Amino acid sequence: MNADYDVVIIGGGMVGNTLACALGGSDLKVAIIEARPAEIEWPPESIGMRVSAITAASQQIFTALGAWDAMSAMRISPFREMRVWDAEGNGAVHFDSAEIGQDKLGHIIENRVIQAALTQRVTAFDNVELRCPEQLEDLDTSGALAQLQLKEGGTISARLVVGADGANSRVRQHAGIETDGWPYHQSGVVTTIHTELPHQETAWQRFMPNGPLAFLPLNNGGCSIVWSTTPEHADELLALSDEEFLIALSHASEHRLGNVIEVGQRGAFPLNRQHANTYIGNHLALIGDAAHTIHPLAGQGVNLGLLDAAALAEVLLDAHAKGKAIGATHILRRYERWRKGDNLIMMTAMDGFKKLFGSEALSLKWLRNEGLSITDKLPVLKNQIMLHAMGYKGDLPALARYAAA
Ligand SMILES: Cc1cc2nc3c(=O)[nH]c(=O)nc-3n(C[C@H](O)[C@H](O)[C@H](O)COP(=O)(O)OP(=O)(O)OC[C@H]3O[C@@H](n4cnc5c(N)ncnc54)[C@H](O)[C@@H]3O)c2cc1C
Repeated sequence: MNADYDVVIIGGGMVGNTLACALGGSDLKVAIIEARPAEIEWPPESIGMRVSAITAASQQIFTALGAWDAMSAMRISPFREMRVWDAEGNGAVHFDSAEIGQDKLGHIIENRVIQAALTQRVTAFDNVELRCPEQLEDLDTSGALAQLQLKEGGTISARLVVGADGANSRVRQHAGIETDGWPYHQSGVVTTIHTELPHQETAWQRFMPNGPLAFLPLNNGGCSIVWSTTPEHADELLALSDEEFLIALSHASEHRLGNVIEVGQRGAFPLNRQHANTYIGNHLALIGDAAHTIHPLAGQGVNLGLLDAAALAEVLLDAHAKGKAIGATHILRRYERWRKGDNLIMMTAMDGFKKLFGSEALSLKWLRNEGLSITDKLPVLKNQIMLHAMGYKGDLPALARYAAA
């Protein structure tokens, strides 16, 4: 039976675009349906409010897909070290990439930079069609082909629909896939700042009872911050004047980088843990935030999604090369088996950290401070943690594998 497309990806965010690039150049006919056009131009000195800590494994994916150079040309900010400490005690850990023979632990990149580079790359492939602005309205996957009702473009059919449409995925809802999860009862307040002292290409994270505060170094000398706190406190932080916010942030960071002296536009995002019970259905797969959302404290969310995209592309291209049906459940199950366990491990680890560092119980305060101090003195353990943070752990898809071990 002929379909309009082999693969239709709903959502051209960072993860959906990565999948499209990974399928680019193949003989699969691919469409991306994206509601909002990507930002492609902005004043050079302005910094986007949303940034992501991108692991070395994700950098490898972007490089393999031919998008990394465009990101570098726009702006990427490497960080070499990471300092983590507990607000309530003396526990602290210092991670230094030099200790594992690397020159950096990762990069801080504005989401709009990633989006712009991937969108540019996607539009260069003859077999990929970007339909934007366009929206999925309805979906029927019960027949031999998936039927998609679009807001503007009528009905189209596909052999496979991929939900890359974020945490409130319409694809997931249409397919009736349930999620497990809970709200963290925290919001992440984000903005960009400048401080009196240089950031030393170091990511700084202070764990406080209400949530962690992270300073992520940018190559303009400033930092992007994520301040996870209670929703009520987040509202208060948003309502402060710039001067009041600078004082509150300087205090919350214990003046590690001196006073905070400049702040940009502020925003807040609710933080939820959510995991789809299954990543696949009849002619259907979920990737990225559509499948899982995770606390941003270790900056892993989009990195997990990029691994989903790379793994799914590998499974699909392999099946297609062998003449197998790409939308068949037994093919898609390979993708689910590959990614769901790894994602769950990372989500569970983040939940553990969040609980441990959010606890006021004396025994847990002691444990975490001792744990941080002991970790700091154990190079073997620290090296393993750094390799995890760089994304060099687990069963990596070929696109994410690096040349030297
Ligand atoms: C405060 C904060 C800080 C974070 N920091 C980090 C970090 O440092 N590192 C990290 O790895 N992760 C981080 N994350 C997580 C990261 O932002 C997400 O994991 C990532 O954005 C998910 O990408 P995605 O492409 O799966 O989904 P999204 O970014 O949500 O993209 C979904 C896309 O689908 C489109 N769409 C939705 N519905 C439809 C429809 N019906 N039709 C057509 N299009 C549709 C949307 O317009 C959107 O473009 C952070 C998250 C938060 C909240």
